[in-house]
Amino acid sequence: MADTALMPIPGLIDPVPVARATQQEGITPRADGRTDLIGLPRPRIAELFAQAGLDSRQARLRAKQVFHWLYHRGVTEFADMTDIAKTMRPWLAERFVIGRPEVVEAQHSSDGTRKWLLRTGDGHDYEMVFIPDADRGTLCVSSQVGCTLNCTFCHTGTMRLVRNLTPGEIVGQVMLARDALGEWPKGGGTMAGLDDAEDESDYTSDGRLLTNIVMMGMGEPLYNFENVKGALQLVMDGDGLALSKRRITLSTSGVVPMMARCGEEIGVNLAVSLHAVTKETRDAIVPLNRKFGIEQLLEACAAYPGASNARRITFEYVMLDGINDSDADARELVRLLRHYKLPAKVNLIPFNPWPGASYACSSPERVRRFSEIVFEAGISAPVRTPRGRDIDAACGQLRTAAQKKSRAERDREQADETAPA
Ligand code: SAH
Ligand code: SF4
Repeated sequence: MADTALMPIPGLIDPVPVARATQQEGITPRADGRTDLIGLPRPRIAELFAQAGLDSRQARLRAKQVFHWLYHRGVTEFADMTDIAKTMRPWLAERFVIGRPEVVEAQHSSDGTRKWLLRTGDGHDYEMVFIPDADRGTLCVSSQVGCTLNCTFCHTGTMRLVRNLTPGEIVGQVMLARDALGEWPKGGGTMAGLDDAEDESDYTSDGRLLTNIVMMGMGEPLYNFENVKGALQLVMDGDGLALSKRRITLSTSGVVPMMARCGEEIGVNLAVSLHAVTKETRDAIVPLNRKFGIEQLLEACAAYPGASNARRITFEYVMLDGINDSDADARELVRLLRHYKLPAKVNLIPFNPWPGASYACSSPERVRRFSEIVFEAGISAPVRTPRGRDIDAACGQLRTAAQKKSRAERDREQADETAPA
């Protein structure tokens, strides 16, 4: 538990002040003194090049070239940047690196789902998951190491928040997935070469394995807004990873004050972890509800910039036996979605078990009935097939080994720490 010793004990519902993970805004510190460029926007790269001695015109030009190689080509060595002068490449390599998250372990599920255990430069573990389907491939990306929010059915919620991931650590997950799937465009070699029509075809999603991104890994993305925004902007940049905002979904447990900014400044699809329709139940299982209640949350959804019938908001609903799965719950869900006139689809998630969890998944008949009631009201409510359960990669199962402690152990520790000496 060495690495968590300095963290305050997270409150039930408030975000803890998180020590800055970076010395300089957005920069992941490195022991060798070089600067990792991953996660930095183009103007910041130009600034660093200028600080290192290039005149401002050179700095801007080199930043544009390097940015393209980094995010569009997936190149990790300056030596491979063939349109940059040969003498310039070692100069860059002395001062900068292009990093990737360290992979501690890679696992493969029998259903094709893949999970990677990753480690930050300062030794914190987090996870990312790739879920292949017939018509798409979805990367589930983490935004924090741990989570402050303690939803009672979520394994990640039993971890303490260790820290926010930096933009580089977030976008690094996508880069690493493209490495692992062998999905960087080939051919060309120069930026001029990349711009011709033939090469452009490499950047469509046709034939790609990784087509979608969901911010549904460890952590609450709206409690790490700036870093998530910075990372997703690189993912959406036409000269960067070039993935459409329509293929990106951010899931929040209901951080109401940040939702409008998410729509305005990031513009991705929204998913909301609703999970219950009465104050009593939602207060109990999603403690953030005590701060931002259901009405407030649904009002923020109704006002979400960019939501429409063509771009509906997803409401995630975990099916917990005897807790939130009655016919009355399903009918109340319909009433609420209609009352707030929400362009909505509902995703019913069978509860994924984890060691020490005090819930069971609703029976298949119950899930089916719940789904029918919502469908009969004209709202799509498919049941999500759990993926990657055998490697603990399914929704809510992510929790890094370094942090593995039972809820009871955690409670005991908190009691010890708050007990008078
Ligand atoms: N913190 C954000 C992003 C995580 S998304 C959020 O909560 O929305 C992960 C999704 O899986 C959320 O909808 C979460 O509520 C759900 N989930 C958590 N634990 C689960 C479990 N044990 N079984 C099924 N779904 C779970
Ligand atoms: Fe955090 Fe989301 Fe898990 Fe709740 S469900 S504890 S918000 S990761």
